[in-house]
Amino acid sequence: MNSHKADTVGWKFEHSYTTLPQDFFVEQQPIKVSHPKLVLLNEPLLESLGLNKEALNHAAWGDIFSGNHMPVEAHPIAEAYAGHQFGHFAELGDGRAVLLGEQMTPDGKRFDIQFKGSGPTPYSRRGDGRAALGPMLREYIISEYMHALKIPTTRSLAVVTTGEDVVRNEILPGGILTRVAQSHIRVGTFQYASTLNDVQKLKALADYTINRHYVACKESDNPYLAFLNAVIAKQASLIAQWMHIGFIHGVMNTDNMSISGETIDYGPCAFMDHYHPETVFSSIDRQGRYAYVNQPPIAQWNLARFAETLLPLIDQDADKSIELASQAINNFSDQFQMAWLQGMRQKIGLFNEESADIDLINDLLALMQKNKADYTLTFRHLSSDAILKDIIFKDMSFQAWYKNWLHRVKTQKEGEEASRHMMLKHNPAVIPRNYLVEKALSMAVIDQDYTLLNDFIEALLSPYEDSKIFSEPPLEEDKTYQTFCGT
Ligand code: AMP
Ligand code: MG
Repeated sequence: MNSHKADTVGWKFEHSYTTLPQDFFVEQQPIKVSHPKLVLLNEPLLESLGLNKEALNHAAWGDIFSGNHMPVEAHPIAEAYAGHQFGHFAELGDGRAVLLGEQMTPDGKRFDIQFKGSGPTPYSRRGDGRAALGPMLREYIISEYMHALKIPTTRSLAVVTTGEDVVRNEILPGGILTRVAQSHIRVGTFQYASTLNDVQKLKALADYTINRHYVACKESDNPYLAFLNAVIAKQASLIAQWMHIGFIHGVMNTDNMSISGETIDYGPCAFMDHYHPETVFSSIDRQGRYAYVNQPPIAQWNLARFAETLLPLIDQDADKSIELASQAINNFSDQFQMAWLQGMRQKIGLFNEESADIDLINDLLALMQKNKADYTLTFRHLSSDAILKDIIFKDMSFQAWYKNWLHRVKTQKEGEEASRHMMLKHNPAVIPRNYLVEKALSMAVIDQDYTLLNDFIEALLSPYEDSKIFSEPPLEEDKTYQTFCGT
């Protein structure tokens, strides 16, 4: 390949992460693959990063996004981190990912460009450093959907097939995802810093992160406490947004919680069809630790682990430090509740606030649970007369709820039309339904037919537009669904 041409692609890498102490990363090239082939390319994202699609042909982009042809400006590293996995602490690190560098965009933003599935690193432990194609396509679909809903998330720039098999429970085709993130600094990165038992190194990471993501905290009397509070606020808002759309992350280990407040690490995540607070999809989450309803308390638990790492920086006096950090963590619940309630009011078309709103919302959820109503479509139908034909309307208690709700909506000064309009903008018509995701993935992975996948992605990118095919809830036989880790 002509490397001169590749240089016109538009890479503008910086490598600020490598200014951290050596403990935080290792230099690591991606391991080349035998037959790279580009199967998905996110052109709008490519452009927003300042990259020029026309600079290379299809095959050459495949060479780039497989790691077979590294841009000369890249300086690939694997990052060190630790984390609590299902409550148990472990040393981790990028075991199958490398960071090429931080792309500086035309509008002055900084984004990590990372390959996921790019081969073993010193942090691989027993893993092969690779990823199966299906899960990488899955991450592409769901992360780009989250972005379409304006929910903070890492993005997906490209997926390539490697031409090599990976061995999981079965033999599967390999894939590599190019992930774009504000950064890959995790709660687990701070936990790792703590294990170094060197306050200067911890401070280096905290200062670096504040500079990169929370620069306003530097002005505070106590920048590290302000930093903790800022991360808590971001997570409270993020988790509330997950709850609003019925998203279940599935593996909220502390290494999968980003400090920038983006949704990260789409493994066994899935969207709930019929409403049930205890919904769990991940086959390995036997205790339901990461069930839908547990996401807010688990986020708080994770943030407490984060707060612990910052204790040496918050105050010289250990007791004072603990007191300040505990107060900050305790505030999470109220912040989450406020963000949740605000979004739920929008979902049911409320502009103003009344104290009975919380009961109105909880009663609706209870009725959905009782009737096994589809979470997404109940809200969507509520914004039009479609609700009158919805199965939930057969329930007399729901009819009573509906009358009450309609009265509440009609007595607002904005009027019923404005309410319905707001609801249509806050309640998606299309979600990545598990049965559709599976169907699209199986056609892509097994038959190498990407038609359904591409159509599905297109529908998901306009989530508030009704779709004949993609809004449909699953048939009865598609309702028992499990997701798998070890991807
Ligand atoms: P995850 O479950 O994706 O959050 O990954 C948890 C840890 O396992 C991280 O350190 C990953 O880098 C590592 N890991 C996951 N899959 C593999 C693999 N196939 N090879 C090497 N490391 C892996
Ligand atoms: Mg992870």
